Amino acid sequence: MNSEELFNESRKFFPGGVNSPVRAFKPYPIFIEKSKGSKIWDVEGNEYIDHCLGYGPLILGHSDSKVIKDVCNQANIGTAYGAPTENEIKLAKLVTERVPCAEMIRFVNSGTEATMSAIRLARGFTGKNKIVKFEGSYHGAHDYVLVKSGSGAAALPDSLGIPNDTTKNTLTCPYNDIVALKKLIADEKEDIAAVIVEPVMGNIGCVEPNDGYLNFLREITEENNILLIFDEVITGFRLSRGGAQTYYSITPDIVTMGKIIGGGFPMGAFAGKSEIMEMIAPEGNVYQAGTFNGNPISIKAGLSTLEQLDNKFYRNLNKKGDYLRSQISELIMDLSLNIQTVGLASMFQIYFNEDRVTNYEIAKKSDIDRFSVYFHELMNNGIFIPPSQFECNFLSSSHNNEDIEKLILAIENSLKIAWK
Ligand SMILES: *Cc1c(COP(=O)(O)O)cnc(C)c1O
Repeated sequence: MNSEELFNESRKFFPGGVNSPVRAFKPYPIFIEKSKGSKIWDVEGNEYIDHCLGYGPLILGHSDSKVIKDVCNQANIGTAYGAPTENEIKLAKLVTERVPCAEMIRFVNSGTEATMSAIRLARGFTGKNKIVKFEGSYHGAHDYVLVKSGSGAAALPDSLGIPNDTTKNTLTCPYNDIVALKKLIADEKEDIAAVIVEPVMGNIGCVEPNDGYLNFLREITEENNILLIFDEVITGFRLSRGGAQTYYSITPDIVTMGKIIGGGFPMGAFAGKSEIMEMIAPEGNVYQAGTFNGNPISIKAGLSTLEQLDNKFYRNLNKKGDYLRSQISELIMDLSLNIQTVGLASMFQIYFNEDRVTNYEIAKKSDIDRFSVYFHELMNNGIFIPPSQFECNFLSSSHNNEDIEKLILAIENSLKIAWK
């Protein structure tokens, strides 16, 4: 069956034909046969250079040989024990050595679980109820955080099925806006347990913090006995060895991780200062549990991945990112388009937007019809990216210079078609 036939079949079983909403695009998504390194192939046999990379986990590219070898060895000696292993300690050491706020950690199964548990922990630790999140930030698909949430959608309606009693405790605020957060905290500080933030917003494209903004968040939360949670599910082990905390030299109280930490397998984690983490069961009274927590396969894949991520790795990868963004900027100038290239390290995106995007309100004004033409044209040129303007594109260490030159040429062709 080809992708179209598979999609028609798929729609009989899965709402919208997919198992996660962002994967659906018109007229039908490509169905994947296999992937390796920087490449992915659909069932028709078309080859694409992949800059979606599973939405972020694959910093080494698809099926890195070392990771796969280690995972196969692990699979032969067990896939789930329901009992602790030494590899969990090894991975915890790698994480806590690198990530400044991480003294103790709990491994879970997804980024969603990580933020859900981190928020519960912040509430348990502070004895307060409310949290602040930023408009357009995405912290997974659970009830506390599906309020003015990003994740690929321009204007996600707040989901049905979430009681007002739950969301009344979730306050929202525009990102990069110092005055708005000051006011919100002044009004509500007695009951705010935590501010949760994506240090770089990667779920409405790629929005960096203004100079000093993360510093401001650190200071205002500290002054008001509010915990600062960095949701580093994307930025963790992406921006640098220690994630955004190291990149911007700001240490939050709690960090949530996912994506890269599982080395291409399902995993999440949350970590923080010991005095906070000790509140987690069975040491403390904030409950958190999971059949697959610390799953030996995911742990091994995470270990095998993190072992390869030294400073030189990031220097090389980020240099490719800088080169790519500079080439895209030149292209945009040469074509006299009023749009912008954004990103940092190995994250990139083009906003089809005249105004500098610093928050969700501005991001929403992007020209998504033109973006859609651009997206499909990139596919015609052998490049696969997430189908939405409001997602981030990634580079992996598997992308070589030839891949990047092909990408630049494809972007040029696709921008020209989008503006024809
Ligand atoms: C992807 C993502 C999540 C959710 O992680 P899942 O593993 O998809 O549950 C949470 N926060 C951020 C910032 C993310 O990008």
